[in-house]
Amino acid sequence: MTATHVPGVPVIEDGVLISTNPATGAEAGRVPVADEKAVVVAVERAHEAGLWWQSLGFDGRKDRILRWRSLIVQRFEELAQLTSLETGKPNADAIVEAVAAVEHLDWAGRNAKRVLGPRKVRTRLLLAEHAGHLEYQPYGVVGVIGPWNYPIVTPVGPISGALAAGNAVVFKPSEYTPIVGQWLVDTFAEIVPEHPVLQAVHGLGDVGAALCRAGTNKMAFTGSTATAKKVMAACAENLIPVVIEAGGKDALIVDADADVTAAAEAAVWGSMTNAGQTCIGIERVYAVAPVYDALVAEIVAKAGKLRTGEEIGPITMPKQIDIIRDHIDDALAKGGKAVLGGADAVQPPYVSPTVLVDVPADSREIRDETFGPTLTVTKVADADEAIRLANDTPYGLGGAVFGKKNAIRIARRLRSGMVAVNGTLTFVGMGNLPFGGVGDSGFGRIHGEDGLREFARAKAITVRRAKSLLPSMTFERTPAQVSQIVKAVRLLYGRRS
Ligand code: NDP
Repeated sequence: MTATHVPGVPVIEDGVLISTNPATGAEAGRVPVADEKAVVVAVERAHEAGLWWQSLGFDGRKDRILRWRSLIVQRFEELAQLTSLETGKPNADAIVEAVAAVEHLDWAGRNAKRVLGPRKVRTRLLLAEHAGHLEYQPYGVVGVIGPWNYPIVTPVGPISGALAAGNAVVFKPSEYTPIVGQWLVDTFAEIVPEHPVLQAVHGLGDVGAALCRAGTNKMAFTGSTATAKKVMAACAENLIPVVIEAGGKDALIVDADADVTAAAEAAVWGSMTNAGQTCIGIERVYAVAPVYDALVAEIVAKAGKLRTGEEIGPITMPKQIDIIRDHIDDALAKGGKAVLGGADAVQPPYVSPTVLVDVPADSREIRDETFGPTLTVTKVADADEAIRLANDTPYGLGGAVFGKKNAIRIARRLRSGMVAVNGTLTFVGMGNLPFGGVGDSGFGRIHGEDGLREFARAKAITVRRAKSLLPSMTFERTPAQVSQIVKAVRLLYGRRS
């Protein structure tokens, strides 16, 4: 590292991106920066590689994907150390993240043939002389743009679905975590040395923008809502479909019959893990009046034990620190109270756990994504009020409910793509469940069956197997045949039930 490098701030020198640790400034590694032409060339190479990858078929791809999965598991420690170095997150968090990524690779590799394989569909009476076939064909080249907060699992979600479906992938990692991104690409190349089926292009946001215009057939974006809009605008120029995994402001609801200790533990983990830099992190808690005081006391006791530099790593992206400080200050200025942490919690590059109560609904800590180890706890009269306030946000990514009798009913009424009942963030670890949001949190899904279909085009094929008794789609039809068709349709569909 040269003396000019600020910890955690990526530097480009002579066409090379230098990545550093956000706490110490130690260099994590260097990668070449791609210019616009290099991005186009990468996508062109991917189109050729994709044809070869597709020709391996579901079984051939499964074999390679599962071997890559095993290689990652064998090198867990190396990957975790690199991730900790580049993001600052504790080693245990990096390992848990890698475990989740492996789960998604395994599930996508094993299930792509079942979910996407060709199948016959049942014939309908009106076109009984035709057989129906359904196939899911890969798009060709999928561009993946990833964030820095979970540099392993966030890109591996779309990458696993895209590869298993038969696509080649060009991946633009965040400028804050290029080294982990390159590690993923390099280990994949050890298993698939023949063709560049998975490539990385590095650089700042302009490289992501170039990728949107470089001839990919689909884009998978994970990042902020603001950047998602730019990605969509760029993709709109060529009608490139996109899947958007954007930010959130997830709520946890605690009902009267909840296990308060378990709810407090989940609230602290859900809000403070990865120093709160989690898209599905809990940022707001709504607790019904009978359990509110006990819950706040337990949250404060548990969060108060967390130490910066130990369980709470540094804020990876230095400019996020100003946003976290602004949210805390705004909440306090508007009448909120800090029962833990508060105005002094921000000590760059760290923010110590902060729990705020009585925070007005119009404060930025309630309305905007904070992305730090802060949590608001709000007292509500009942579950209905909790649901109303939880849903009063343009975001709709995940959420959590603690309770017994009504917990699932409450979960269904939350306007979000995912909810954990008596747990938090758990849905991200199940390879067979879809992941994605609504509203400002995005659309489309990664993971699970929906996440595989996201990276394939449904193709319908009909095959004539007999002459038509009542031909309708031909100029050869007679008026008598048309009347018979109408009679048949009345018989089939004209009755009430
Ligand atoms: P950003 O939106 O700043 O960046 C995301 C990616 O987009 C980065 O690789 C970035 O490159 C790239 N990029 C920037 N500008 C453009 C552009 N004009 N065109 C194309 N790509 C561009 O998000 P962060 O990296 O700060 O990630 C944090 C955000 O991600 C939070 O809002 C978080 O909630 C969300 N997130 C959502 C998840 C989900 O699954 N829903 C999961 C994880 C995070 P560069 O870094 O070089 O600027």
